Amino acid sequence: MSEQPALALQTHPARLRAANWARTACCMGLLILVVAALTLIFGRAGERIAVQMCVNVSAVVALGLFCGNTGIVSFGHGSFMTIGAYLSGILTMPAGLQRTALPQLPGFLAGHELSIWTAFPVVAAAGLTFAAITGSAVARLAGASATIATLGLLIITHGVAVGAREITRGSQTFFGVPRVTDLAMALGAALVFILIARLFRESRNGLFARAARDDPDAAAALGINPRRTRFIAWCLSGTLATVAGALYGHMLGAFSPASFYLSLAFAHVAMMIVGGMASVGGAVTGVMAVTLLQDTVRQFEGGAEVFGIAVPEVFGLTTVSLGLAILLIIWLRPQGLAGRLELGPGADAKLLRGIKETTEPAPVPDRAAAAELKIENLSKSFAGVKAVLDASFEVPTGRITGLIGPNGAGKSTLVNLLSRQYHADAGKAIYANTDLTKTTREGVARLGVSRSFQNLRLFPGLTAYENVLVGAMAKGHSRAHSQAIAIRELGDFELGKLAATTAGALPYGARKRLEVARSFAQDPSILMLDEPAAGMNPTETDDLADRLQRAGAARGLGVLLIDHDLRFVNRLSNWIVVMNRGQVIAQGTPEEIRSDPAVIEAYIGRGRTAAEAKLKTQDPSKPMEGVKP
Ligand code: ADP
Ligand code: MG
Repeated sequence: MSEQPALALQTHPARLRAANWARTACCMGLLILVVAALTLIFGRAGERIAVQMCVNVSAVVALGLFCGNTGIVSFGHGSFMTIGAYLSGILTMPAGLQRTALPQLPGFLAGHELSIWTAFPVVAAAGLTFAAITGSAVARLAGASATIATLGLLIITHGVAVGAREITRGSQTFFGVPRVTDLAMALGAALVFILIARLFRESRNGLFARAARDDPDAAAALGINPRRTRFIAWCLSGTLATVAGALYGHMLGAFSPASFYLSLAFAHVAMMIVGGMASVGGAVTGVMAVTLLQDTVRQFEGGAEVFGIAVPEVFGLTTVSLGLAILLIIWLRPQGLAGRLELGPGADAKLLRGIKETTEPAPVPDRAAAAELKIENLSKSFAGVKAVLDASFEVPTGRITGLIGPNGAGKSTLVNLLSRQYHADAGKAIYANTDLTKTTREGVARLGVSRSFQNLRLFPGLTAYENVLVGAMAKGHSRAHSQAIAIRELGDFELGKLAATTAGALPYGARKRLEVARSFAQDPSILMLDEPAAGMNPTETDDLADRLQRAGAARGLGVLLIDHDLRFVNRLSNWIVVMNRGQVIAQGTPEEIRSDPAVIEAYIGRGRTAAEAKLKTQDPSKPMEGVKP
């Protein structure tokens, strides 16, 4: 390995981490600044707003931890806040007051008189338990159905809180809760929550959750379990929200189930969307912006005089202005005020430019133990269409095996069967003594069988660097090792300069290369590439062929290369399998394939001459034979 890449490997992750911390510190500093300004300029009234703002920051950061990383908007976090507020209230309430306010309180809850600091761990544990129970259901869903489930959860919790009169006084005001949430506590909690959310976002699970958010199937193909990532995010987020609920309760002193119901859930979701769901900084910015907006607008709600013009009293002006703010944000800045804060192409680009382009692939552990993927009688049909029919062939390691065939031949379906995207109707695919058709999608990836998709399946919201990093981490490598792998692959595929660009913003050719780089980062033994050159121009195709040849040879991996560009496949493979209408119709060396009548017929169809067929499939690097000019 040359010296410069080695240097980049050592310095780069540390510098990236430093930049991330700097940004988190900025975000915290901004909050402290706004809080200080409020208390210094507006005195007691300002302090009240500041406390409320900090509690809201805690709640919204907790909410964003789930929503931002999984892409699921949750209205259900009001449930956690309800539990936190009531439980903490009951545990800390003076015993005498409790006997009057809650005469029928069950014995195990009564008379604890805990200090707030003793109550918090109990509250957090209760929140975690509730999150684990509800999460096992919510994590199974994605998208709009998950959002509706969280709304259902809020409605159920609200109903239970109203119904459980012995514990909550029903819809009546619950009072006697010590008002102990002061500015120091609220600000401290907000800062700690920001830190936790920030750490989670960059953690293995956070990264996996964001990958699964962008493309669950591609994530699963890398060995990530999308359901698990949602579950973990839900549990952590729910636990934090429960503590935020306790803080909220101790700020109010008296509340009812309605305090945590739809209007609060809506306000918190609004704050998150205004600020930007994708980043922790977004949650903080959103709360500050919305709190300041609400408190300003509230002054005018009862009617006021602006520049000598009398503004009439408008009931619900704050809600209307909040609604307008959301509409404006969605229209003008869909990513939110600070949505891209932690993606930061600006600062990261400078750091990642440190990655040197390398022409030689970095050394990797060689695979002495040659193995092969044995496909035996695989079949799959879709409602009568036999997409794959009784297909059998082998993909050995250390070699590029071509898989060609006209459109609709069943090539992609075959890959989908091997990667467990689809369930095989019959047949086996044995690799390392395991039948791939009987394992899970993650299991296939863990065995060392990776794939790329025919239609690009990148994680568009993640940077190019993160896309590759996810690939390496999903394989189970440590973070430091994964970072080194990611840098190596980005260098190999000439993506170093684009490392800090989000995948969704990359040019097409770079996206194609990135997808191959991501599969390479998994250090696979068998790599299935589904039309990696589709849509590329001839120069890009040749370039990709060079890279594949070099990397394949250096790493001894087995490649199943699918394409219908025969020239491309011919150049790389010395063994080619041909499929047509779901069946393997021929396999052999490129020379054998080129002259196989069944192949010619499949490609050209009946009624054409063999000479024409030869012309079509001729390797242009060799002199034409059998065709007179
Ligand atoms: P190739 O990749 O060789 O072009 P495919 O494997 O994509 O071919 O498709 C093979 C056949 O299976 C086609 O007839 C296609 O319409 C059908 N097919 C593939 N996937 C599905 C699916 N999910 N549902 C229904 N039919 C499918
Ligand atoms: Mg296909």
